[in-house]
Amino acid sequence: MADHHATFVAIRAALLASYSGTLASTRMSPIEALECMAAALGSIYREVADAHLDPHGCRCGWVPSEMLDIVALEQAIAANAATDEVGDAFDLRSLLPVGHG
Ligand SMILES: [Zn+2]
Repeated sequence: MADHHATFVAIRAALLASYSGTLASTRMSPIEALECMAAALGSIYREVADAHLDPHGCRCGWVPSEMLDIVALEQAIAANAATDEVGDAFDLRSLLPVGHG
């Protein structure tokens, strides 16, 4: 989906700017800065999921499925981070959640 790709490119650019800013303004190592970004993403998931579990929250109809959602997030990170050899070693396909939970 072209729209999906454009969104990916925009979010990637924003995260890369955040990463560069973190490296420039802290003594964090590259992996510490990336872990900080991953932690922030996880906490955003928690906030969004809570807003959809709240009866007075968002009414878009999405229902969080914590176990599958977190596996999907981890899988998205791993699939884009790993070289082919590492990806094969982890057999990422076995981590794909089935359906929409
Ligand atoms: Zn919603």
